Amino acid sequence: MTATAEALNVWDQFLQYAKKNCSQAAYANWLAPISLIEVRPNEVELRVPNIFVKEYLLDNFRADLCAFLPVQASGNPSIKFVIEAPIKQEAKKVSEGGVDTPSSASPASSQSEFRGSTVPLNPAYIFSNFIEGPANQFVKSAAMGVAARPGKSYNPLFVHGGVGLGKTHLLHSIGHYVRSNFKDLRVQCITTEAFINDLVDNLRNKSVDQMKRYYRSLDVLLVDDIQFLQNRLNFEEEFCNTFEALINQGKQVVIASDKPPGQLKLSERMVARMEWGLVANVGVPDLETRVAILQYKAERKGLAIPSNVAFFIAEHVHANVRQLEGAINRLSAHSRLMNLEITEELVEQCLSEVLQAAPTERITVEHILKSVASVFQVRVTDLKGTARTKGIALARQVAMYLATSLMDESLVAIGNAFGGRAHSTILHAKAKIEELIGQQEMLRRQVDMARRNVAP
Ligand code: ADP
Ligand code: MG
Repeated sequence: MTATAEALNVWDQFLQYAKKNCSQAAYANWLAPISLIEVRPNEVELRVPNIFVKEYLLDNFRADLCAFLPVQASGNPSIKFVIEAPIKQEAKKVSEGGVDTPSSASPASSQSEFRGSTVPLNPAYIFSNFIEGPANQFVKSAAMGVAARPGKSYNPLFVHGGVGLGKTHLLHSIGHYVRSNFKDLRVQCITTEAFINDLVDNLRNKSVDQMKRYYRSLDVLLVDDIQFLQNRLNFEEEFCNTFEALINQGKQVVIASDKPPGQLKLSERMVARMEWGLVANVGVPDLETRVAILQYKAERKGLAIPSNVAFFIAEHVHANVRQLEGAINRLSAHSRLMNLEITEELVEQCLSEVLQAAPTERITVEHILKSVASVFQVRVTDLKGTARTKGIALARQVAMYLATSLMDESLVAIGNAFGGRAHSTILHAKAKIEELIGQQEMLRRQVDMARRNVAP
């Protein structure tokens, strides 16, 4: 029996019930995107845009589903889920097909009366160029879900995270995907600052209605850097109205911000609206992901980076992806200009500023141990322990030596920080390393590197 063959099948009955028993927004965001494939006597088959919708349904409606739908022996509702095909492949085609440029924007005719200060989409910001790892997988899937079904999955999608972590990249990726796959949908990206400036101009020219019409005629509005709306009380209301108007018409809104909604200094109404749909965080990528991003970016620049060098950079440049890109650009320029092979030494030379850019807080033994451990490829716990294995003992002495030169503490205090070692042990280590670095060039370089990379 197909969905259309029976007027009120069990799934429709469930939907009717759910509609009355959850908020309009929850219904629109989570239940409306589900489509029925077939009702069978022992099972209902549903198509969901992604795994999150499935989980939401089961987490929030399990008991209700059991009341309406066939139930398995385990007591769970008997539902077969079909997850909509991932859009990765198509996103790739976008990048290769050359249609992924700002010029493929929505129809020009409707833009002619009002030209908002919209941002052209960066052609490089597409899904297939966005490297995922544990810290950004969820937000990427959410963005892809929204792109595949604008206005029908999470609305709004609110993406937040620190600077340089890929928020704008994801926003533009959604824009490109929609432009290439839904030709008749109008997509625009704006920065909050530009929106405010437009509003000011239009108020002056008494053309606010045109502006309102323009924004409200969009199908997908991507709003970057909403944090700039803070402390702009006069504009917040207009923003909120635009926003509600779009969402109420089932148009997609995606917002990027440096903080989660609750931490923005905005009205309760605005915060509540932004929390309506799905709030997703872009985190700082972990070491492996940073290495993957580095290697991906280097490859695209035709730069061969040995993996030890990639790890070295990724370990020391960890705040955000923009810095990683900066490191690659610099390295690429250096190695090309001087026709040099990329080695750790070259990295040290040309990235020393980047590597040293860490804020100068008080240095502790922990900072030193971390740096020494990474340069000498041992574990911090080994350095703190008493093992006398040659490599570990030497690295431990280097850490002690660095502590005497980098920390403004007495030998006794340093000895205590190294797990209660006598000050004579520290002194001995200092003398020993000073002697060795006079003899061994390799060790001297390692010690220098460890010294440079002590990051409080
Ligand atoms: P934000 O808007 O969060 O400040 P951006 O989106 O401008 O950050 O990202 C900064 C740079 O880092 C961009 O060039 C972007 O392409 C790149 N970037 C960020 N995250 C990733 C990622 N996961 N994979 C590949 N590139 C990334
Ligand atoms: Mg940004």
